[in-house]
Amino acid sequence: MTDSDLKQTMGRLVGPAAPEVGCDTCFDELDRYVELTLAGEPADQRIPGMRAHLEGCPACAEDFRSLRDLVGREGG
Ligand SMILES: [Zn+2]
Repeated sequence: MTDSDLKQTMGRLVGPAAPEVGCDTCFDELDRYVELTLAGEPADQRIPGMRAHLEGCPACAEDFRSLRDLVGREGG
């Protein structure tokens, strides 16, 4: 399999537009992303690139878990 084939295969798996957000955007959108996640909304569709960033950035992933636990407790 060539590199080009691999990219095409990956493209089919993740979809055409899977931009990864940066830490700044991640920080700005984290509240909303957590709320969407807890509400059972398709958070990954609403804020494309967040999941990709959280999977690749331990610091933001930790923030996400903390906030999710916090908001989740408040929501009962
Ligand atoms: Zn980050």
